[in-house]
Amino acid sequence: MDDRLGAVYDELVRRNPGETEFHQAAHEVLSSLGPVLDRNPQYVDAEVIRRLCEPERQIIFRVPWVDDAGVVQINRGFRVEFNSALGPFKGGLRFHPSVYLGIVKFLGFEQTFKNSLTGLPIGGGKGGSDFDPKGRSDGEIMRFCQSFMTELYRHIGEYTDVPAGDIGVGGREIGFLFGQYKRITNRYESGVLTGKGVTWGGSLVRPEATGYGVVFFVDELLRSRGESLDGRKVVVSGSGNVATYAIEKVHQLGGTVLACSDSGGYVVDDAGIDLELLKDVKEARRARISEYADARPEARYVAGGSIWDVPCDVALPCATQNEIGEREARAIVSNGCAVVAEGANMPCTPDAVRVLVDAKVTFAPGKAANAGGVATSALEMQQNASRDSWSFEHAEQRLEEIMRGIHDRCLETADEYGSPGDYVLGANVAGFTRVADAMLALGVI
Ligand code: GLU
Repeated sequence: MDDRLGAVYDELVRRNPGETEFHQAAHEVLSSLGPVLDRNPQYVDAEVIRRLCEPERQIIFRVPWVDDAGVVQINRGFRVEFNSALGPFKGGLRFHPSVYLGIVKFLGFEQTFKNSLTGLPIGGGKGGSDFDPKGRSDGEIMRFCQSFMTELYRHIGEYTDVPAGDIGVGGREIGFLFGQYKRITNRYESGVLTGKGVTWGGSLVRPEATGYGVVFFVDELLRSRGESLDGRKVVVSGSGNVATYAIEKVHQLGGTVLACSDSGGYVVDDAGIDLELLKDVKEARRARISEYADARPEARYVAGGSIWDVPCDVALPCATQNEIGEREARAIVSNGCAVVAEGANMPCTPDAVRVLVDAKVTFAPGKAANAGGVATSALEMQQNASRDSWSFEHAEQRLEEIMRGIHDRCLETADEYGSPGDYVLGANVAGFTRVADAMLALGVI
């Protein structure tokens, strides 16, 4: 890393002790920016990078609630409002026991560049809680969401900060959060949250958008080389919202998804994952993926183990951060995989990315490849602002154009900076430049 950036990184590590995921995400972006500073001394003079590394505002709060047994539970809530140079803070809420400030900051930092890459008017933020929704009743989820929003409502708004879903937060949770916001503020302010149900202000295609978007990105990547997804074998880790709709789109474009997973293990189905069954197990029953194999004798379930031992042409990690380390990356390489595209946020460790890139596997980073979810959130905000609702076809077409556009912007930027085909450089530089220029224009704030 360039000395000027190394100094900023060292300062960030010193001022944010123990926040290893945040350090990792910052290191990844700063490592690409040396050539940008050489060409743009104005960014150095205005301390744009040091400002970008410090969130505009960080909110941490108590979330007390009562469980079904009458026991008082206390969780911690977070909202990190990272950067609003391009628009209101925008990014999801994650409910997962692993959530702490370092994870929320890494996600908010990534979100800033991702949202910039979409070309839409959205800043970056992220939030969540260490609440574990697993095994909780609908009543418990509702009471938790109501308590969470009772504090969060004062910090958000359609022109200020617009949360949405992430791991552990889907349509059900957004409903409870929106209901409580509406009740407290006495305002039907649709644009304050995205990921809403279609009958109360949501956008068609929002649930599908992240997964579809990753696959549109990969399709464009393959097209740029005269290839396609048709007949390709694909492995998708995870079985949540992103994974489910990535699988759907791969199948629509002629590929076959052989395997998917949850935190307990993975299933392999050589005939291609049966999407209806997967949705029934994971969405309707909220059950473990092992039940997929119970219902389908031709599939096999592997408890524990690594899904990346299953050979494929295209790997789509859609579970969570750091799921592919050096060992998993070596397995992906030795199985002859050609493309790895991140559906989750930062699923590949820096060592894994090095192994993939050294072996000439094309690597598409999440801030570019998984931007379809937040892009469609911005389309939901557009519909809310105009009190309109678009058809599925129209929303999907907009998503597809945005993803193909992000792909092309990454490739063009990589070319411009003398590193053809380097999607990491392309995404980091193109994402950074748009935010940096807006920050310069808005003065020292
Ligand atoms: N959580 C998603 C992401 O990682 C989407 C956020 C949003 O729609 O605001 O980009």
